[in-house]
Amino acid sequence: MHYLKQILRQAEQIFIREVTVDHHLADSICEICTQYGNDIFLVADENIAKLLNKNVFNKIINLIIPSNSTASLETVNLVRSKIKSSDSIVAFGSGTVNDICKYASYLEGKDYISFPTAASMNGYSSANASVLVDGYKKSFAAHLPKAIYIDTNIIANAPLRLTLSGFADFMCRSTVQADWLLSHLLFGIEYNELPFTFVHDLEQTLLREYLALAKRSKKVVLLLMEALLISGLGMVISKGSYSASQGEHMIAHAMEMVTKDYSSSLHGEKIAVTAITMANLQEKILSIQNPIIKPTTLNVKHVIECFGNTEFTKILKQKQILQQKIKEISHKEWNNISGLIKQNLLPARRLQKMFEDLSIPHLPEHLGWSKEQYCKVVNLAFATRDRFTFLDLANCIKESEVL
Ligand SMILES: [Zn+2]
Repeated sequence: MHYLKQILRQAEQIFIREVTVDHHLADSICEICTQYGNDIFLVADENIAKLLNKNVFNKIINLIIPSNSTASLETVNLVRSKIKSSDSIVAFGSGTVNDICKYASYLEGKDYISFPTAASMNGYSSANASVLVDGYKKSFAAHLPKAIYIDTNIIANAPLRLTLSGFADFMCRSTVQADWLLSHLLFGIEYNELPFTFVHDLEQTLLREYLALAKRSKKVVLLLMEALLISGLGMVISKGSYSASQGEHMIAHAMEMVTKDYSSSLHGEKIAVTAITMANLQEKILSIQNPIIKPTTLNVKHVIECFGNTEFTKILKQKQILQQKIKEISHKEWNNISGLIKQNLLPARRLQKMFEDLSIPHLPEHLGWSKEQYCKVVNLAFATRDRFTFLDLANCIKESEVL
């Protein structure tokens, strides 16, 4: 993890003290935990707990949650009630266990140690926790783990579906950067190139060697893990999720708001579908020579009807003001903007080819969505968040220009 360690040395504000990468680390989990206090509390799910020696559960106080658990506020509260007297909490698992421990330990003012068990997403090294509240997934400010321990055997042998989901979550770098840069160039929104510079070399290797992920190549799965950890830290550096979540994540969250289904597909599987949509949309819009801007005619009623949530009224109003601001964009300005954004784009067909090669769900129908249902959500997703992306441009460029 050469790149990751370099970044940790440079960034003093990052709280992670140690990232240890080694074979069979889980076999020494008890010895590792003793460094963080006498009273350690371990959380894992039923499936993942099988990877640990049974003696561990006699030595460390623990909570084993059902393998189909979600990171709900109820589970967070359950963990909080059990860690009152603990020194540190250990998250042994992937996304769900990590989110539960991250948020519970943050609210209780305790340290947490992360033992990721799959390269499945970038949240191990981000300071936010995704938690389900009253049927809706919400992102809460939390904290970073004090240390991360990566058992190379466990990561390489994780269920393939999890690893591939992590790959898709990382590969949306291109659509994220295009959206973020667009809002910077149009409105001067603060933009930071560093998160993308840090992962550049890893991304190039993954673009060449992604097929090895399906063969569980330890080397390539670990490169992906490193890329995901850096992507998580990128969000810390950017003081928000700007560098890892833009239009493609907005569509994915909008889909979840409609179905309230958080378990039938993995986060990265939704992102594979939505990143392809965003990449196609970005290509189409960037190919327009003289965009004609017209204010959106979207009625807020449609947004409320679709997502059942009235808090978007304010966001829609803000978006309409922003759309007005770009009405006078000149041909020269647009040429400059599109030229800069195109420099970092990955073609949509390249993303699609990689996801096809790896059999990652990448079309709405792969997730059980009809084209019609999906298009409706894509068209309205821009109104769900105050981030200005190509989804907004699609809504205010004259239809004949886009289609
Ligand atoms: Zn993501």
